[in-house]
Amino acid sequence: MNSILVIGTVAFDSIKTRLAEANDVLGGSATFFAMAARLFSPVRLVAIVGKDFPHNYLKMFEDHGIDLKGLVRSEGLTFRWKGEYEENMNVRHTLETHLNVLEDFAADLPDSYRNTPYVFLANINPDLQLKVLDQLEKPKLICCDTMNLWIIHQRPDLEKVLQRVDMFIVSEEEAEMLTKESNIVKAAREILKMGPFSLIIKRGGYGAILFTQQKEVFAIPAYPLENVVDPTGAGDSFAGGFLGYLASRDSFDLETVQRAMIYGNIIASFAVEGFSIEKLSTITRDILRNRLSDFLIMTHLAPASVHVE
Ligand code: AMP
Repeated sequence: MNSILVIGTVAFDSIKTRLAEANDVLGGSATFFAMAARLFSPVRLVAIVGKDFPHNYLKMFEDHGIDLKGLVRSEGLTFRWKGEYEENMNVRHTLETHLNVLEDFAADLPDSYRNTPYVFLANINPDLQLKVLDQLEKPKLICCDTMNLWIIHQRPDLEKVLQRVDMFIVSEEEAEMLTKESNIVKAAREILKMGPFSLIIKRGGYGAILFTQQKEVFAIPAYPLENVVDPTGAGDSFAGGFLGYLASRDSFDLETVQRAMIYGNIIASFAVEGFSIEKLSTITRDILRNRLSDFLIMTHLAPASVHVE
């Protein structure tokens, strides 16, 4: 089985929506990614937490089969993030970011992780993403994500990352920020010039679109939900389902990538139905299969070729 290495944040999130709020719940880009990807492939988590990080969360990761050899436990406090959503939940504002232990994170990989074939550089300082890239031995596929903070404050490092990855998964808002281009097709073309072979632009509640260097385009809608509780982590869960599936197939031809997007999409739809990993941690094969078959009926997307094993 192909393993996936993810480097990103493990965090305490405080979130406010128009209907509810949650304080200091488990979050972070690597957390959501790992909890989604583990449904398909073994996951190796590279991150840092502080002395305030509860043991039962570590156990929860391990109980879900996530390898924690790359998780550093440090003396300081765990990374904290606070965000608020507008009525239109595609719009989010960061209220507070406390880097805490992240400031001393060296991102040194355990030796046994260096030859991991599939790699996801989740949202974290591009400095650290580059450090991880330097330690890897010939991975088969490298994907990355980023956020507005790094586009604004660390663009040169981010550009170096983009030159070295195969695939970039980014939100529409960030794609626009990166290229100063509000048309999604033009923005995609500009980003592909920066290096990655392919690009997925996430459009929140509207779905996701793939663009490749070979001019392939594939668009899917989001699964329509009546009750979105908290969109935090949707993008990372999408990426987890997506890359988890690719690693399990050990292939990234267009058809496999299209199927992987469908899985990522379905898994993200569960993530947003609760705070933190509430819903993500309860997904089973049966639950996934049912929603997938609903989605295929709704969209008429190649029903014969996508199935949950
Ligand atoms: P998403 O909703 O997919 O963009 O991911 C949300 C997650 O990103 C939250 O759980 C946060 O803890 C995490 N996050 C927020 N700000 C940062 C940051 N500056 N670096 C890394 N992760 C962050």
